[in-house]
Amino acid sequence: MSNETCGICGGDGRIGNSFGNTTTCPGCRGSGKKADDDHLFHDVTKTKPSHHRQANKAEVAVKQTWPTTYEGIQLATEVRDSKTLSADLKAKLTREIMDYEGSHGKCTQTFVKKIRKQSRPGA
Ligand SMILES: [Zn+2]
Repeated sequence: MSNETCGICGGDGRIGNSFGNTTTCPGCRGSGKKADDDHLFHDVTKTKPSHHRQANKAEVAVKQTWPTTYEGIQLATEVRDSKTLSADLKAKLTREIMDYEGSHGKCTQTFVKKIRKQSRPGA
């Protein structure tokens, strides 16, 4: 037993209910003192919010695998559909496009041409 004041009723042992009447405090059962099972009462009510799922956590962890800009997507599609590039080189170029997007915000014509030279030799 502790001598702490009940945190639910504030020590008077009674709390107001929804009908505007007072009722015996469920935390201390009317004693006004923090009961031994007081923490159990609190635990039950406090564990509920922590049960919320951590939404979007998996989404954030997903690695970007495709460009996001219009030019980048077009370019990466050309690379992917290329008949001359190896799978390794396609992956490398796609990564290069995404990196370029990341640092420049978009793919410039110069960059597009540079990638096209590799994805469509002779074009
Ligand atoms: Zn109480």
